[in-house]
Amino acid sequence: MDVWYVFGAALITAIFTGLGALPFFFVKNISGTFLGAANAAAAGLMLGASLGLVYEGWQINPIRLVVGMLLGVVLIIVAGYFLEEHEPDIGELEGNADAMKMLLVIGIMTVHSFAEGIGVGVSFGDGQDFGTLISAAIAIHNIPEGLAIALVLIPRGSTVWRAAGWSIFSSLPQPIMAVPAFLFVLAFRPFLAVGLGLAAGAMIWMVFSEMLPEAREEVPMSTVVTMLVISTAGMLLFQWLIG
Ligand SMILES: [Zn+2]
Repeated sequence: MDVWYVFGAALITAIFTGLGALPFFFVKNISGTFLGAANAAAAGLMLGASLGLVYEGWQINPIRLVVGMLLGVVLIIVAGYFLEEHEPDIGELEGNADAMKMLLVIGIMTVHSFAEGIGVGVSFGDGQDFGTLISAAIAIHNIPEGLAIALVLIPRGSTVWRAAGWSIFSSLPQPIMAVPAFLFVLAFRPFLAVGLGLAAGAMIWMVFSEMLPEAREEVPMSTVVTMLVISTAGMLLFQWLIG
């Protein structure tokens, strides 16, 4: 398996994000309830993929896995502070609030994609089958994320194609990060379990600190939990059947 395979797989996951914008060709608006449910489903798919990484890392080296998970959580918290610090004051940019909102949502999604790119790359370090499985998981999870981005952009005057383009852009860290992460764990085998833990820790943290609270803004807790359980279980079943 070569670097191009890893890059190609991670590029396909990014392109899947653009699919999330396409429903807007057929509908003018999507209800908050649907978006909330879609966000909760995306969170569950991500949680399922992360648990797959945890399971894999646990079998290699549990201690390194846990160290990696803690590192992943710290990484996301630090990135969050950095984003907040550089978040422009909306008040100062009167009239540009729409542009800022668009920029912010694209910015947050782009940071979030870094962890997913590392997840794809380290999974390929564990073997082609596992890498392909995690890539498929991330690709499916990207569709509702693209929908969430399009939902911010399209009511603010963006065309569907442009929203699809920005959605794909937000996921470009996936192919960009996957290749170095893959090469790193390939060269330094002892770091494989750490890398799996890092990606899983970062993604699990994002699910609970960012994605679920966001879904909770649109739909009741019971809907969030139901969607989360169904999509997490579905993703675990998918991994079990394929793996
Ligand atoms: Zn994501």
